[in-house]
Amino acid sequence: VWDNCLTFIKDNIQPQAFKTWFDPIKPVRLTDKSLSIQVPSKFFYEWLEEHYITLLKVALTRELGEGAKLVYVIKMENTYGNREPFTEKIPSSNRGQMTPQEMDVPIKSKNPQLKNPFVIPGIRNIKIESQLNPNYNFENFLEGDSNRLARSAGMAVANKPGGTSFNPLLIFGGVGLGKTHLAHAIGVEIKDKYPDRTVLYISAEKFTQQYIESVKKNTRNDFIHFYQLIDVLLIDDVQFLSGKSGTQDVFFHIFNHLHQNGKQVILTSDKAPVDMQDIEQRLLSRFKWGLSAELQTPDYETRVSILKNKLYRDGVEMPEEIIDYVAKHIKTNIRELEGAIISLIAQSSFNKKEVTLDLAQKVVEKFVKNTKREVSIDYIQKVVSDYFEMDVATLQSKTRKRHIVQARQLAMYFAKKYTKASLASIGSQIGKRDHATVLHACKTVDNLAETDKQFRKYIDDLTKKFS
Ligand code: ADP
Ligand code: MG
Repeated sequence: VWDNCLTFIKDNIQPQAFKTWFDPIKPVRLTDKSLSIQVPSKFFYEWLEEHYITLLKVALTRELGEGAKLVYVIKMENTYGNREPFTEKIPSSNRGQMTPQEMDVPIKSKNPQLKNPFVIPGIRNIKIESQLNPNYNFENFLEGDSNRLARSAGMAVANKPGGTSFNPLLIFGGVGLGKTHLAHAIGVEIKDKYPDRTVLYISAEKFTQQYIESVKKNTRNDFIHFYQLIDVLLIDDVQFLSGKSGTQDVFFHIFNHLHQNGKQVILTSDKAPVDMQDIEQRLLSRFKWGLSAELQTPDYETRVSILKNKLYRDGVEMPEEIIDYVAKHIKTNIRELEGAIISLIAQSSFNKKEVTLDLAQKVVEKFVKNTKREVSIDYIQKVVSDYFEMDVATLQSKTRKRHIVQARQLAMYFAKKYTKASLASIGSQIGKRDHATVLHACKTVDNLAETDKQFRKYIDDLTKKFS
């Protein structure tokens, strides 16, 4: 076994390093899952742990399979001659689990004889490919009321991965509100604090592709096995799993395994677990085990500070007036907020002059317009009635009951906002009203949006469903 490990290691490091650090090691005992190796000194052991642990893990896992353990035996440096040579046994810092690295390697076996068939092309790839983006960190994830809970839960998890009750941590919220950024930030922070942990970020979409691939290639077990070796698993956009029962099933097993072993799971989704559709109940119930934290649409102050931070980091100055304008007009998507400011920065540096309000208006308009996706009035009525748990006929009825009137007015308001239909046409489609009624509805909604907090929440929730 050890010889095979050595061959593998030799192929992956410099000859000189091999000679220095691996030649002197002697294998001393092999049990089912554990190999003991004798090293000349404590220093030697520490050096191996620091520099070659990953390589050793991979080599050993290939030989002994999952759960393989490495035990170091340190040769005593004594002067008394014939003593028992081994005095100390140090388990490999409880790192019982072996961790094959290298994510983009397709999960497949080139050599079916290997117990652990992950193909490791060379030392350069042996470093854990966490797939993390270092630019998405906590430092530049600005805090505001809208993200405080999610952000601090993320921090807590990053400080003690697997060691909090936030397992899994589910971050949910609409498009462009920072889910991916926050997920990466958690991973980046964990890598920073615990460099030895295997962290993996992957989108649910890619996870699904890998899974499908593994089924095709008959390597489903390897796929599961691989994921079970991860210490911190971040899966982005789990709503993508909806309706995909095979992937859900495999994820369920992986999740259980990780959770039972105190590994941290972090998920993001565009919906709260209660609103997820076509996700198996048993998975949903797992999602609720930990903490679900929402990223809400940022308030005005947060939008301003995000813009200012971006400008500051790019070393660009911009008149307050412009910042204010952008922050006031782009409300529901931080990605667009950033897009608009980046576009303005580009323009100002290109033209070497200050951005005018006029230009800001043009840019903002482009962003806001681009995001207006055409939705039909029927669809709007359906979504609004679903939201208020009534049916479309009720929404359209003549009743004056307050909550029904409000739902109807909201449907009109969104129809005005998201379709090109005329007021008259909106009116006729939503329960045969005239254009004045629609106009009145839109004004009422605007007013209530300013004065009524609960109503504001209806608008925000529904807006998310349409954008
Ligand atoms: P989501 O995954 O929810 O669609 P992203 O994480 O991709 O959103 O975020 C969109 C953009 O907004 C990214 O460029 C991200 O850096 C930025 N962003 C989101 N939230 C914040 C925040 N709190 N502070 C600074 N930038 C943010
Ligand atoms: Mg995202």
